[in-house]
Amino acid sequence: QAKQAGRNTLFYFNETLQPMLEARASLEADLRHALSADQLQPYYQIQVDAQRRPLGAELLLRWLHPVRGWVSPGEFIPIAEESNLICELGDWVLNAACAQIRAWQDSAGARALRLSVNISARQFEHDDFVDQVARLLSLHACQPRLLRLELTEGLMLKKSPEVIEKLVRLKAMGLSLSIDDFGTGYSSLAVLKHFPLDELKIDRGFVSDLPGNADDAILIKTIVAMGQNLGLEVIAEGVETQAQFDFLRQSGCYAYQGYWLGRPMAVEAFDRELEGFYEALAEAEARAQSAQ
Ligand code: C2E
Ligand code: MG
Ligand code: MG
Ligand code: MG
Repeated sequence: QAKQAGRNTLFYFNETLQPMLEARASLEADLRHALSADQLQPYYQIQVDAQRRPLGAELLLRWLHPVRGWVSPGEFIPIAEESNLICELGDWVLNAACAQIRAWQDSAGARALRLSVNISARQFEHDDFVDQVARLLSLHACQPRLLRLELTEGLMLKKSPEVIEKLVRLKAMGLSLSIDDFGTGYSSLAVLKHFPLDELKIDRGFVSDLPGNADDAILIKTIVAMGQNLGLEVIAEGVETQAQFDFLRQSGCYAYQGYWLGRPMAVEAFDRELEGFYEALAEAEARAQSAQ
């Protein structure tokens, strides 16, 4: 019986796990190469306020694999996170982010957008992380207030003094901090008050069934109200319909991001889209004026 099970296990390993491990290893090697081979590209997705005024953008990484085509960050970020590759990748992203902030700073002046960047827990925990952020900000001469770091709930879970100390140092540099995918982890709003955060980003899982789902509707209202009480900007991700936008706006949400407002896109397209937002705002203003 045991022999049989052993043989089955071996069979399972050979037939299923082995190819999976190989595919993973080859993707990791390809990703390592992608960094130097110019296969990675930052995409940008707009964030607006309740009047649809542009507030910022989120940088979302894209990988054009020479054979597989587009590989989603949902697939390659976890692979990078299992090795130190995430730190190299994270540096690459932060460098791209600072270069873009500088470009917007130079071209848009006071209208320059704030850029949010996703930070992996492992990248954040690296001893050098805070210094590296400082180095890149100064290398590109960008205004720190235009950089926002999106951290994960997992990081907050431990309430460790090291984590808090790093967050305090980052805040002292003048940048702002967000907690991404809020509600999917195990942290509570009570825990959040121990951290010097600026923004709470509601996971799109709570948004997708709005406004019909009564449980999600209550959760949203509760998160928004408590976020407000803690002095945090509350942003909703995954806003796909006008009905979701309207519900969130009525709930007092501060900022909005999602396909209904704009897809993630390369910077040239993003800059054009941004102009469209400003034109729409100007038109709405002109209409309001002539109606008076
Ligand atoms: P995230 O930070 O929560 O980003 C939001 C994800 O939702 C993005 O997926 C975005 O394209 C997608 N999204 C935006 N609006 C909508 C919408 O209206 N509907 C739906 N269904 N989806 C929407 P993406 O770009 O595939 O990224 C997936 C995740 O990969 C991100 O989740 C983030 O955790 C991670 N990621 C992406 N870029 C980076 C990066 O540069 N560094 C790190 N560490 N992680 C990254
Ligand atoms: Mg994010
Ligand atoms: Mg998110
Ligand atoms: Mg998410």
